Amino acid sequence: MRISEIFYSLQGEGFLAGVPSVFVRLAGCPLRCRWCDTKYAWDQAAGAHYSINKIIQSVQKWPCKFVVITGGEPMINSELPLLVQKLKAFKKHITIETAGIAFIQDLACDLMSISPKLSNSTPVDTELAAIHEDSRLDIAVLRASIDNYNYQLKFVVDSQDDLSEIQQTIEDIGNVDSEKVMLMPQAATREQFLAKSPMVAELCKRTGLAFCQRLQVLLWNNQKAT
Ligand code: SF4
Repeated sequence: MRISEIFYSLQGEGFLAGVPSVFVRLAGCPLRCRWCDTKYAWDQAAGAHYSINKIIQSVQKWPCKFVVITGGEPMINSELPLLVQKLKAFKKHITIETAGIAFIQDLACDLMSISPKLSNSTPVDTELAAIHEDSRLDIAVLRASIDNYNYQLKFVVDSQDDLSEIQQTIEDIGNVDSEKVMLMPQAATREQFLAKSPMVAELCKRTGLAFCQRLQVLLWNNQKAT
């Protein structure tokens, strides 16, 4: 598999925020989101080749039950099912972080952490924007993901104008448990996170949706491997 990085940190986002976790970041993502904070993981070729056994050995360096498979976009990787299966044999709790653009059946995954991409993520470059718009939102994939896995839905909020698009997306998916939906400030730096958080907090109070923390930004200002 092409691996961008493997490191030990705290889960920064979602309902498991604060839980010490080993992160396996797979290289490769087609979306090119405008505000992506892991651009170094876009290109598969930029990752190093690891066998699945080498990934397991690296993960086992830390005595940690929680493993987060992230990206890039893990769900487009054909070797993901085998990696999940092997990690599960070591009784790991596995979170997969995905944009929800591809579906794989029967993964032994404990939490599917889905972050559907809104129009606020569209790249400025027109060529990239066309690719992005073509694949950023697949309602059937999102529906299959929430029907088949324990999930959380994290929406990145850039401004309060995003709320209607979020509500429309939730309605389009259908059957979404609102207690599993979170709103997360769009922020690449600690300053941006602190500046946008009050606006997102107000949206959370208005809608009853949970506020999504970004501890990696707050604690480490989004340094690599955090
Ligand atoms: S889906 Fe995630 S990894 Fe891919 S470009 Fe968007 S933010 Fe970055």
